[in-house]
Amino acid sequence: MGYLLRRVNWASQGCEERGDLRIAQGRILERSASLRPRRRDLIVDLEGHWVLPGLVNAHDHLGLDLLPALGTPPYSSFYDWAEEIYRPDESPIRDLERAPQADRLAWGAWRNVFGGSTAVAHHDPWHRRAFASSAFPVGVVRCAWAHSLGFEKGLHRRYRPDRPFVIHAAEGTDDRAGAEVRELERLDLLHENTFLVHAMALSADDIEILARRNCKVIWCPISNLHLYGQTAPITALRQAGVNVALGTDSTLSGGLTLLDELRCAAETGQASPDELLAMVTHRATAAFKILDGRGTLEPGGRADLIVLPNRGSAANSLLAARIRDMALVLVGGRARLAGPDIANSLKLGSPNAVVDGARFRLDDSFITLRDRLDRILGPDYPHGDLWHSTAEVANVRMAPDFDEIH
Ligand SMILES: [Zn+2]
Repeated sequence: MGYLLRRVNWASQGCEERGDLRIAQGRILERSASLRPRRRDLIVDLEGHWVLPGLVNAHDHLGLDLLPALGTPPYSSFYDWAEEIYRPDESPIRDLERAPQADRLAWGAWRNVFGGSTAVAHHDPWHRRAFASSAFPVGVVRCAWAHSLGFEKGLHRRYRPDRPFVIHAAEGTDDRAGAEVRELERLDLLHENTFLVHAMALSADDIEILARRNCKVIWCPISNLHLYGQTAPITALRQAGVNVALGTDSTLSGGLTLLDELRCAAETGQASPDELLAMVTHRATAAFKILDGRGTLEPGGRADLIVLPNRGSAANSLLAARIRDMALVLVGGRARLAGPDIANSLKLGSPNAVVDGARFRLDDSFITLRDRLDRILGPDYPHGDLWHSTAEVANVRMAPDFDEIH
């Protein structure tokens, strides 16, 4: 059985075309101006929509995404923020420990699905069993990682030449943050597989070093602006030739989803809509050396894609999109989220959840996950916005204002 997506506009690696896509066995099999249906194809007419590659969230801490924003900004560096908020014996960090690790990670993964991210670079220990489960809704990019220069002992033991090496660095505006690129250079940790998360406090010399070493930068604009009132010098980095990817960071400081980061990034004026689309698709997969076709819609590639309403160019449609606009999120050819019409065409079943005011058919695993977390964390847990914007249809139908939601 395959999916035939008809009459779509698609965008892949800077090219925009129109036609049909055939998906089967987790791959994009064919892409053409017109494809004939095969027996047992499920056909979806996507007139009025864009099909884009699934987005890459270059930085998240999946196990922390149930936490609300913490702290009282502004701060001058990450170290000041961490000193204030890290209270493991107090709520909400202590309460979060009650939830099983696998559930915390899955919630973080669903946060990514809602924002159209089908691959996420997770910054924290690797949880093989959780990430390999067929119920885990996104792909996780395996990275070597170190927290930061200040919080990590034995940095050289954390570095691996055969994986992306990701480290928070130059996060903030003070001299300590401003010295970190030179310190990483001194430690010989700046290589073409080194990704600096945040990279805010950079001198012209630092930018020249990062470009010469072919290092990558992960931009988290909402977290930066929230904590420090400014963000990274993306224009200068890009002019120097540094590959910049976009990330959410955790909900402790970041936006609701990658869609919010995209809008925030656009508002800084440091990248055009087309550049932002590239940043969260093929340029990100190139940076992370993801070689299975993700970040593109090329035939033979893994079928990670999203479907959005057509509001002009592909990039402008992406920047205009909210969670409620997501029409389909396919991860490895499997529909993790679908709007009611597409869910019907793909025989996925009726809507089973309301997210951001819109009805969706989600994997049933989300419904049981949310129920379980609700029971474990209880009504007093200070959930963030994503929790409050999700609800089961069964519960919402009982509310008298159900019709007003739509
Ligand atoms: Zn982080």
